[in-house]
Amino acid sequence: MSQNNQPTPNNKTPNRATATVHAGAPSAKQGQAFNQGPVFASTFHLSGEVDDNVHQYARFHNPTWDALEQAIGALEQGRAIIFPSGMAAAAAVMTALVEAGDTIVLPTDGYYPSVAYAEQFLQKFGVTVKRVATVELLQQDFTGVKLVFIESPSNPLLDVVDIQKLVDKVHACGGILAIDNTTATPLGQKPLLLGADIVMCSDTKALNGHSDVVFGHVATNSDALFDAMQLWRKLSGNIPGPMETWLVHRGLGSLDMRLERMTNNAMAIAEFLTQQPQVKAIRYPGLPDDPSHAIAKQQMHHFGFIISFDLGSQTMADKFLANTQLIYQATSFGGMHTMAERRARWGTDDVSQGLIRLSVGCENKQDLLQDIQRAISCLNDKN
Ligand SMILES: *Cc1c(COP(=O)(O)O)cnc(C)c1O
Repeated sequence: MSQNNQPTPNNKTPNRATATVHAGAPSAKQGQAFNQGPVFASTFHLSGEVDDNVHQYARFHNPTWDALEQAIGALEQGRAIIFPSGMAAAAAVMTALVEAGDTIVLPTDGYYPSVAYAEQFLQKFGVTVKRVATVELLQQDFTGVKLVFIESPSNPLLDVVDIQKLVDKVHACGGILAIDNTTATPLGQKPLLLGADIVMCSDTKALNGHSDVVFGHVATNSDALFDAMQLWRKLSGNIPGPMETWLVHRGLGSLDMRLERMTNNAMAIAEFLTQQPQVKAIRYPGLPDDPSHAIAKQQMHHFGFIISFDLGSQTMADKFLANTQLIYQATSFGGMHTMAERRARWGTDDVSQGLIRLSVGCENKQDLLQDIQRAISCLNDKN
């Protein structure tokens, strides 16, 4: 059997596209499949003394997990642990690392279920939950804070914090910094390289990208944090199925290509929206006068595919959504299909009634611009 020279996704500065396509692939062997299919097994042969170097039982590990964890770890530049949802990954970060008497800092302007989890399931065990706006993090005193778990860019208003500066502040007080990297993906931003202790991501969104799997991961370079979160997965049983794991690995292969199209489309649409009098406010980190632009440019590899814009009222926002033909109305983001929703309909985000979160997909740029232009011009109609 011949061993070919494979690109090495683990080297320090891999090309993004190449690393993504090859991430977690087995080394080339004559006659072997490029990608091993999902391994459906609960139980593995294990005779004699317990051998920790082999697969034992599928709540502990599984060959399909190994491949995806290697892939995601290579992209995050850390050691990855996969979960059956982004929320399971977020729960692992929070539950495994805090104890009674500890304080956690979460955003006021981030993904609401992460806050709800801490308030519903950690506060009752004596954990204090404190919320801080993303733009106020660098003015915050973190004395006595065990875990700072924030999002940058935040969702849906896309505020960005200087992660390196935040790392210094949190570490000076002895705390752990975890970043929810869902809106950026491991290709858009590498929080571990910026000094964060943990990166967490909902892979349901852009990383899988095909709107067909709920999934998540964490990654870290700290053995102690890794062991704590992995043990939480093993003992809480929050484990992903092999089929979902394999689908996410397949989706990941096209992430760089999809992001290139999505972020290019998003830039064009954001520029178009700034010219429209019906748009009362817009947030997109790629716009030069956006408050997030300078730091995003410094610490991110792209400006993302999410645009938040305000049409002034619920009536106008609903009318816009009803009049688009290409844009799916849905509450997720990061898929190949462009999708949008009026965020205030949930009543959980502190946003204005007319705010639309638009997740730009992989469709043709001109088609999207035309569709949006038509829906905007409908706003001038009387009914
Ligand atoms: C969707 C999302 C989550 C939760 O992920 P699930 O896969 O839905 O459990 C966490 N954080 C952010 C920023 C998200 O968008």
